[in-house]
Amino acid sequence: MKRAGGPSPALSAAGEAPLGTLPGVGPRVAEKLAARGLLTLQDLWLQLPRQYEDRTCIVAIRDVRPGLAVQVEGVVEAVERGFRYRPMLRVAIVDDSRSTLVLRFFHFRATQVAQFAPGVRVRCYGTPRAGQHGLEIVHPSYRILEHDESALGEQLDPVYPAIEGIGPGTLRRLIGLALDKLPDESALELLPSDMRRERDLPSLREALLTVHRPAKDADRGALLAGTHPAQRRLALEELLAHHLSLRRQRIALQQHSAACLAGSGALPRRLIAALPFALSGAQQRVYAQVRADLSRPTPMLRLVQGDVGSGKTVVAALAALLAVEAGKQVALMAPTELLAEQHLATVRGWLEPLDVRVTWLAGKVTGKARAAALAEVASGSAQVVIGTHALMQEGVLFRDLALAIVDEQHRFGVHQRLALRDKGLGDAVPHQLVMTATPIPRTLAMAAYADLDVSSIDELPPGRTPVNTVALGAQRRPELVERIRSACAEGRQAYWVCTLIDDSDEVVAQAAQSTFEALSAALPELRIGLVHGRMKAAVKQSTMRAFKDGQLDLLVATTVIEVGVDVANASLMIVENAERLGLAQLHQLRGRVGRGSAASSCVLLYQSPLSMLARQRLETMRQTHDGFVIAERDLELRGPGELLGTRQTGLAGFRVADLMRDADLLPLVHDMADRLLAQAPAAADRIIARWVGGAARYAAA
Ligand code: ADP
Ligand code: MG
Repeated sequence: MKRAGGPSPALSAAGEAPLGTLPGVGPRVAEKLAARGLLTLQDLWLQLPRQYEDRTCIVAIRDVRPGLAVQVEGVVEAVERGFRYRPMLRVAIVDDSRSTLVLRFFHFRATQVAQFAPGVRVRCYGTPRAGQHGLEIVHPSYRILEHDESALGEQLDPVYPAIEGIGPGTLRRLIGLALDKLPDESALELLPSDMRRERDLPSLREALLTVHRPAKDADRGALLAGTHPAQRRLALEELLAHHLSLRRQRIALQQHSAACLAGSGALPRRLIAALPFALSGAQQRVYAQVRADLSRPTPMLRLVQGDVGSGKTVVAALAALLAVEAGKQVALMAPTELLAEQHLATVRGWLEPLDVRVTWLAGKVTGKARAAALAEVASGSAQVVIGTHALMQEGVLFRDLALAIVDEQHRFGVHQRLALRDKGLGDAVPHQLVMTATPIPRTLAMAAYADLDVSSIDELPPGRTPVNTVALGAQRRPELVERIRSACAEGRQAYWVCTLIDDSDEVVAQAAQSTFEALSAALPELRIGLVHGRMKAAVKQSTMRAFKDGQLDLLVATTVIEVGVDVANASLMIVENAERLGLAQLHQLRGRVGRGSAASSCVLLYQSPLSMLARQRLETMRQTHDGFVIAERDLELRGPGELLGTRQTGLAGFRVADLMRDADLLPLVHDMADRLLAQAPAAADRIIARWVGGAARYAAA
């Protein structure tokens, strides 16, 4: 991974010093820290507490409540050492409020027992719970007090996320030592002071010290919620760093040139005239945005997001025609062979009547056919090339690739995208159009795709009816067989989707096979097809085609039908083990029905008992059809890392920031990024190096 700029010498000296330089960190401890990605002093500065313990005051035992951590102090009243299934020690302490609290231990040493002589003063910290005889604290942290000892903590005590093999006390001490080496503000601070003053932001140094060593009157609630100004300051800088790094990549891309595709638009107009439908307003708007991008001499990098069925393909085809009109080539890449084949059929149907040559290039194209396809691609006679990731393999040489279209981009990593980009000529790089049906919540899109422009097809073509969704326990399966029988008797088509916890192709394929057999036996009058990932592409393809053409009534399938497949007459879908699928996947699947004008239903079968999370997911599916709402819920339930794929974005690698919690900072992040890039580009590079440079190091590992 490239680093956008090196840290200054002052910074390297302080923050980048390896942990071996701290007293008490030998090779073994260093190794354990490294296993958690903690390599430098700075990594320890940014290792934030997940809890705080308040040892600055003593709570009267009378006021203690179950579930709330407290520090109490009292005199040992009685000690009981027993054995019931396992050894146990109970120590009753009483305080000035004349109330008693029990300290209970299951692991203890003889010396400990001896310590608790009646009359001894004990100060302890822990979370009380209701025991057999009143409140008790199990395994409190405690200290025996000397006669005159009374000093209390000055600050809230931080509790750090546990690190295997390193005790909490040691970790706290090491982080304390690292903090003692925090440089002066002048060496540490990277945000220009005017920006900080405007927003009343604490300095980085202040923020770190506040978070690690909060004063006893600090707002503990805010600290625990992660909303304290000190934490917000850190989150802000981290978000800023990620945003700047994406902006830098974008700026680097803009240094390249790209073909100006500024033709008359006559060819796309002919397609629009030939379509059996009128473009929706949203499609027209997005096409206009794409067209404006393509007419510029710098590479387009645009994400088109639109819910399943919103009609992204036709927008892609129109963009392709702009390139063809300019005498250039287009590549259209889909994540699965099935989907690529469907694009091939659709796009051929639209473009060949306009005398555009559409060439097929997938992994299964081999031998002579492959050689012929490669020759067409190299000579330029292939104007639009459609395929899977095989398009990016070495040996695929375009004569003049000007536009690369990537469908369902969440399946591809950034690197694959870049590989396609590199297939341009000389210094010119192809324009890129990326399409996704996984709507990305606005907040996330701003953070994740600062290197992309985003267009949304936020309107479905007219005439779609919402899908009626129900969730049923798996024991109701037999009823569904009847439901399929009657739906198909009315000339409708149905999907039966098999999923399993084990997503090895083979096991799922077997399950699909046996479901297929069971349904064939139960519904002998129906024409039933089977599609799964283990079948030959040609067989899959012909079964899908038969279903599409209405020659099959019921299609038993695995989630291979998830993306993009389009059959308007299918109006009933049954999803087995729906509780195991994520929201995005369920939404994608459901998008396969409700494409025609008939009222459609989707039945989500689940195995009891449902986990809390699964219940919420199914409930969300019943409540809404809006892909953006579903994506927002998905983000809440799963967190951004999973939504986008960690490796793809590095977003899950945030140390401090939390996109859900800190989303409101993003407008400020954008504003500050603009100003930094314009006024203090060197500071921008150092901010990237501080926060992202290290993360890139782990991502590359
Ligand atoms: P997706 O955005 O999920 O890729 P598709 O491009 O596959 O959606 O389009 C879904 C279906 O809607 C296709 O059958 C397509 O021909 C049809 N379609 C696209 N745009 C319109 C429109 N404006 N009016 C009616 N049907 C449309
Ligand atoms: Mg699609």
